[in-house]
Amino acid sequence: MSELPIERLGLIGLGNMGSRMARRLLAAGWPLVVHDLDAEAAERFEALGATVASGPREVADEADVVLLSLPRPEDVEAVALGEGGLREGSRLHTCVDMSTTGPEGARRIAAELARGGVRTLDAPVSGGPIGAEQGTLCVMVGGPRQAFDDCAPIFDPLGASIVWLGEEPGYGQTMKVINNMISAGCLAATSEGMVLGTKAGLEPAAMVDVLNASTARNRHSEEKFPQQILPRTFDFGFQIGLMLKDVRLCLAMAEDLEVPMLVSDEVRQLIALRVGAAGGEQDITTLIQQVEGWAGVEVGGAADGRDALASGGDGARPAPREGE
Ligand code: NAD
Repeated sequence: MSELPIERLGLIGLGNMGSRMARRLLAAGWPLVVHDLDAEAAERFEALGATVASGPREVADEADVVLLSLPRPEDVEAVALGEGGLREGSRLHTCVDMSTTGPEGARRIAAELARGGVRTLDAPVSGGPIGAEQGTLCVMVGGPRQAFDDCAPIFDPLGASIVWLGEEPGYGQTMKVINNMISAGCLAATSEGMVLGTKAGLEPAAMVDVLNASTARNRHSEEKFPQQILPRTFDFGFQIGLMLKDVRLCLAMAEDLEVPMLVSDEVRQLIALRVGAAGGEQDITTLIQQVEGWAGVEVGGAADGRDALASGGDGARPAPREGE
């Protein structure tokens, strides 16, 4: 397949991730057509120079390449293949799904869009809203190499690490759900350890300092604990219900391929318990509250978090809390 021209982009889904990616694409000079079910979210981009479209078909009438950043696989399927969907558009030649939708959905959408001559890349991302804002996402891509090469100038302002995993549709999604399964396991284990240490009398900010200089260091101990959990803001910007979706997509793939995932299945149950107790719209960082509730102890608070960490933590023991 030969190189296809890209003059104008579309982006559908202007939430935590999509809105930040849209800003970066506009700042990089890309003409952009946007759409979101939330009309206000889309209108905010008009002031920034984007064109607002009334639906997916209109986006696909006006853009050569359309990026999707939508919550669930069924949302992507409806936008791409449903009535008034992308496949009815006249201009679109490449669809790039940056949502986390799992490999099965990616294969189906790629096959269906190919019938109308549209190429599909599954290009989910890792790095959260901060990575999206700073253009430091990891973008993991499956699909035709030529489409990947054509889209390189689009990925460039969005990611610091752009990895093509192969021609096979769904390879990007396969990698993404594995990444999120491992990430969820790290968050669950770090949350349990932090709750235990706090109940045992350790100071949370000092524990985070030690973890980050030791073998248990992970992205959550480096970022979410100091920035959102210890200060109790719980505002990372990733809904826990979306993480449950990702974990389920990973376990469904494991089931298909007959790979046991014993630890991961326990992690799924912990996340599902939290979603059942508090709702899927809570931030992912509230997972620790499920463990805190059982243990009768709270990690961090006014005395911990950004300020304590900025000073390196003073090593002081926390005041005893209720329930301790
Ligand atoms: P979000 O809920 O903040 O945003 C989704 C947006 O899509 C909303 O503005 C919503 O109105 C819009 N939308 C939903 N259905 C639509 C439809 N049919 N047509 C048009 N617009 C529609 O979600 P998010 O956190 O931005 O995540 C988007 C995707 O990226 C998800 O698949 C998620 O798993 C993945 N992801 C999120 C993060 C994160 O940290 N937030 C990180 C990596 C990947």
